[in-house]
Amino acid sequence: MRQKIVAGNWKMNKNAEQTEDLINELIQKLPAETESRVIIAPTFVNLASAVDHTEFTPIEVAAQNMHQAEGGAFTGEISADMLKNIGVNTVILGHSERRAYFHETDALLANKVDTALKHEMEIIFCFGEELKDRQNKQHFNVVEYQLKDALFHLPETAWKNIILAYEPVWAIGTGETASPEQAQEMHKFIRETILERYGNDVAENVSILYGGSVKPENAKEIFSQPDVDGGLIGGAALKADNFVAIVQSI
Ligand code: PGA
Repeated sequence: MRQKIVAGNWKMNKNAEQTEDLINELIQKLPAETESRVIIAPTFVNLASAVDHTEFTPIEVAAQNMHQAEGGAFTGEISADMLKNIGVNTVILGHSERRAYFHETDALLANKVDTALKHEMEIIFCFGEELKDRQNKQHFNVVEYQLKDALFHLPETAWKNIILAYEPVWAIGTGETASPEQAQEMHKFIRETILERYGNDVAENVSILYGGSVKPENAKEIFSQPDVDGGLIGGAALKADNFVAIVQSI
């Protein structure tokens, strides 16, 4: 059975104090047993303290990004080794904001994926079409090529460390969500694309999360789709009550 996962991408929100407060509230409010893995991704500067705070809790901590190089003269960047060394084993790669504002391409992301895997990290790989792609009926094409260009060079064995997060760009932070049918249609397509390349085992075992304006009011319906295995949550992950309600919707 593939894993169910709810991950909160905190983006550039929450200073050290606020990070501690939100984690404390989550620890208090999350049920002791959840049906899904629960992951939070605070900013780099608060990762080490988040790892400390969540020890002995069901909450896991992920990074929002990392650099593809092992180290060296890359001012302002963070390496896989640095993350692993403070106990962060999961990294979000390819978020649409990284693609749009920091010009991350599928080719670059393929390198980041390789580096993360070399360090035995788990990857939450984000991808999804823009509004114009959907309007031009190119959304399946775009998604197919994002997958192929960044991930399909990987051997089958690497896929145990890959979580996919389909996030239509037009639904991120806009309040507009893909309908449960649109999400299911795309998730099914993604699984079929993986099936063609890697076969049934990989396709059936890879978790595919949906992201884009998931909130307590729509989470249940989206998560009930057969190919949706959880969510990557932005805005609604910043309030404990909302995030806990979403976790409980799975
Ligand atoms: P949102 O963000 O939930 O605020 O739309 C999702 C994401 O960017 O991962």
